[in-house]
Amino acid sequence: MTVKTRFAPSPTGYLHVGGARTALFSWLHARKHGGKFVLRIEDTDLERSTQASINAILEGMTWLGLVYDEGPFYQTHRFDRYDEVIDDLLARGLAYRCNCTKERIETLREEQMQRKEKPRYDGHCRGGAVTAGEPHVIRFRNPPDGSVMVDDLVRGRVVFSNDELDDLIIRRTDGSPTYNLTVVVDDLDMGINIVIRGDDHLNNTPRQINILMALGAEPPHYAHVPMILGDDGSRLSKRHGAVSVMEYRNQGILPEALLNYLVRLGWSHGDQEIFSLDEMVELFDISNVNKAASAFNNEKLLWLNQHYIKQDDPARIARLLSPHMGELGIDPASGPDLVAVVAAQQERARTLVEMAAISAFFYQDYDDFEPAAAKKNLKAAAREPLEHLRSALAGIPEWEPEGLHQLVKDVAMQLDLKLGKVAQPLRVAVVGRAASPGIDVTLHLVGREACLRRIDRALEYIQERTQES
Ligand code: GLU
Repeated sequence: MTVKTRFAPSPTGYLHVGGARTALFSWLHARKHGGKFVLRIEDTDLERSTQASINAILEGMTWLGLVYDEGPFYQTHRFDRYDEVIDDLLARGLAYRCNCTKERIETLREEQMQRKEKPRYDGHCRGGAVTAGEPHVIRFRNPPDGSVMVDDLVRGRVVFSNDELDDLIIRRTDGSPTYNLTVVVDDLDMGINIVIRGDDHLNNTPRQINILMALGAEPPHYAHVPMILGDDGSRLSKRHGAVSVMEYRNQGILPEALLNYLVRLGWSHGDQEIFSLDEMVELFDISNVNKAASAFNNEKLLWLNQHYIKQDDPARIARLLSPHMGELGIDPASGPDLVAVVAAQQERARTLVEMAAISAFFYQDYDDFEPAAAKKNLKAAAREPLEHLRSALAGIPEWEPEGLHQLVKDVAMQLDLKLGKVAQPLRVAVVGRAASPGIDVTLHLVGREACLRRIDRALEYIQERTQES
């Protein structure tokens, strides 16, 4: 039997990292078993579902590379099918019409609470007296006794007693089907044989199993994945920082770093931290997912991100970096090859946003010197080396790293200065601050014209500074 998993988000917001992790687990499980992964958009809540959210989910899935084999299926396209199932349950006496008023349900609830009972529908309309002509909802006739056993692949065995479940509404007065019904029909029709989802749905599982049994279907396997917590132990939410997948992209996180981070959140394989996608597919096992909730650790994500920035192909990083350069108003086509810039900066940035920020000087003059770097390196003593460097750089026939490196060394020798006393003022002059890739590569990529212009500016700065003192 082909393993079939699904990711079934409700499009009422962005793609949350918790959702992305559930999607990743479902995707991995399908890939590992040579199965299929289905994307289903659960958009029946017409008031809260938006097209923008659907787009955000699809964009997030694409960015993460979680390719689905089937779908996206939209529940709003399947109302006829849900009606067919509800009508069939009704015809077979497994569901019934109910016209209890809101007031009656409310009074019932209050009475039950007073008696310290769990509030639940009392089956008042089970007798079947309500006719189709009057306003009504349809309720599923839940089995009155016995229990439902869920052998959850993450949580272990969980048993629910039927007398705790009530006859839930499967069609509202306006004719729309409810969540538990649509999920069941879809999982059945789409051949889903393992449901991997957030454990906030665990309580829905016995209800869904009962409906499936009423439809004569074999329930799928279930794996309820614990939620993700923030650093304060409460459920991860906006107030902890970024929660949407696209926000991580905007912060300069690589998709492979986020996937690697998410797979380790609640799952482990020995003490291994770095997993390529192929390794994840090979090693991931849903039954090894921890049932306790795990907390999101941004530092660790940054550590992984840095790892991938360092080891990925510069051409790929350059492609992903380009929009971040755009955010700074820089068109990478207007300066040195972005791939060469990435190769020079790969060791120096934890995120693509950082990499863009420290690479802007390759494309445009910096606004101002970093005060501490200028104070330390652009002093009167730096004038002579900078003047020498300027004329040597103006005259060097070939603007290549090797010759530039030699040139800086030669100037230091001529002036009988340590290399640092020459290279560091030059760096601050060209870059605006004290850190950059090797001086040879930096000069090479910045280009002759900009280097000379910036050295002139540094000399002016030294001039002004020495006049002031
Ligand atoms: N649509 C539900 C949600 O976004 C998930 C339903 C399910 O996985 O069964 O919470």
